[in-house]
Amino acid sequence: MATLRVVKPATVKAAQISKPGSAFEIVERDIPEPEAGQVRIEVRACGICHSDVLVTEGVFPWIQYPRVPGHEVAGIVDAVGPGVTGWKAGQRVGVGWHGGHDGTCRKCRRGDFRNCRNLKITGVSYDGGYQQYMVAPVEALVPIPDGLTDVEAAPLLDAGITTYNALRNSGAMPGDLVAVQGIGGLGHLGVQFANKFGYNVVAIGRGSENELLARKLGAQVYIDSQTTNVAQELQKLGGARVILATAPDSKAMSALIDGLGPNGKLLVIGAGLDPIEVTPAQLIFGSKTIQGWEAGTPAASEDALNFCALAGVHPMIETYPLERVAEAYSRMLGGKAEFRVVLTM
Ligand SMILES: [Zn+2]
Repeated sequence: MATLRVVKPATVKAAQISKPGSAFEIVERDIPEPEAGQVRIEVRACGICHSDVLVTEGVFPWIQYPRVPGHEVAGIVDAVGPGVTGWKAGQRVGVGWHGGHDGTCRKCRRGDFRNCRNLKITGVSYDGGYQQYMVAPVEALVPIPDGLTDVEAAPLLDAGITTYNALRNSGAMPGDLVAVQGIGGLGHLGVQFANKFGYNVVAIGRGSENELLARKLGAQVYIDSQTTNVAQELQKLGGARVILATAPDSKAMSALIDGLGPNGKLLVIGAGLDPIEVTPAQLIFGSKTIQGWEAGTPAASEDALNFCALAGVHPMIETYPLERVAEAYSRMLGGKAEFRVVLTM
């Protein structure tokens, strides 16, 4: 008589937040079952992102607890729900910030899925990737190309797509002067994309310690914001067509605006809470703009992952097992990580 092998666990380990402000708890939960229009994913890796504070701190009053955070998920389709076509068990997939849309609202009918009236955010609207198995709606899935490992793909599904999509939609053309402010979780990817897109890349960092790294990642010029007037330095280079502002420091962003050239754009992706200060005259003369940018659709994430595999863009990662989630999370929160923290299951 053959021994019965248990293929799937009956319960899964998850790191949950039981109420706003509480610490992570590792719990055993029933393995979730995919419903119509959903798949179950065996999670292999999940990035820890600063916007997970939405869940840990309860920033949105509508979040339901307990909640499992995580919107940088890489894994394998493990089971498909009723009626699901186009995805099959064994396929490598990711889920990013864009966790689903209704496909029927006014914005969706015009193809603007990112601004769906019923947009779902992975790990916020429903349980995300800080667990061994999760379910996700099919419209949120992103195929992962063979050229990327799970731990590499995970942070590309939010930090990667955000920098890639912001730059590729910025209007900057090959050869244009593009500055990336902040050499951190977002910025170290932004510099790589800017280089691979053929821009003349300026990296702006605090202090000199990141200069070597920034140049290695593809910056032609490095500006130390602690010892130099960044706006003046950018003007000496002709003025930036685009400045990608990744460090969540609104005061530092305000100081960059005068570094823009004609028709230049300050592209804001570092989510600070203080106001950016600018006078109308700073924007009017030279027709300058300030624009924010939020991640992208799963289709755009697919483009980002494929581009990373094709062009050799690699996130720099620290990995921690799920059991050490509290330590990993505080590493991210303290800004000490180099540069993205990824949980492995
Ligand atoms: Zn919609």
